[in-house]
Amino acid sequence: MPIRADALALERLLQLQSEDSSLDRSRRRLEQLPERARLEKLEHQLEELSSDADMAARNRDDVARIQDRLEGEISVLEQKLQREQQRMYSGQVSNPKELSNLQAEVEMLTRRRGGLEDELLETMVARDAAVSTLQSLSSERNELSSSVSELSSEVARLSGEIEADLSAHQQARDELKSRLSEELVALYEKIRSAKGGVGAAALERDTCQGCHTKLPAREVERLRAEGGLQRCDNCRRILVVP
Ligand SMILES: [Zn+2]
Repeated sequence: MPIRADALALERLLQLQSEDSSLDRSRRRLEQLPERARLEKLEHQLEELSSDADMAARNRDDVARIQDRLEGEISVLEQKLQREQQRMYSGQVSNPKELSNLQAEVEMLTRRRGGLEDELLETMVARDAAVSTLQSLSSERNELSSSVSELSSEVARLSGEIEADLSAHQQARDELKSRLSEELVALYEKIRSAKGGVGAAALERDTCQGCHTKLPAREVERLRAEGGLQRCDNCRRILVVP
């Protein structure tokens, strides 16, 4: 049985098509928001930068621990050296062999202290470098982090706008759909899903707005004369003749 549709129903069907096209456009816009793609890129950069900064902080702590250990060792060595030097110069040790052992011990301790002091100097230089690396990474991270939160609010604002737009079109669509026959909507939706989102199109002058094909004058005449539910001969979409 052919589906019946009067001029009013066909006019509503065109409005339904217009709402559906708006919904499709808004959904695509929401999915392809360039700000969201940029945000994802920045978030990824922030993650990498944060992990670099964490590594730099661990490195600084390691170097600081080495410095503490060296300073501790030097201080212990220093005390020992002072004690041995005091003994050497106190005159209490008179045995020449014992004195020469003591002298050798003092020399050995002095050499070790020199070695540790060189090491400490290098460590202090390394610590300065580690601190400055951490500072520059941290400030870069803070900058990026504020860009991320700015962009993130922008994305939320834009998404909110599009979602409000979507819900308005959805409401209009539901309203129109409820005022059309189920058979007509089912046919329209079947064609729409097979034909890239367009199930119904208007005939403007002699051109189908679905496939943008000019129809022969005789065909246009026939369509106008018959009225009711018609399909475009070329694209098979529902053709609404004004
Ligand atoms: Zn067509």
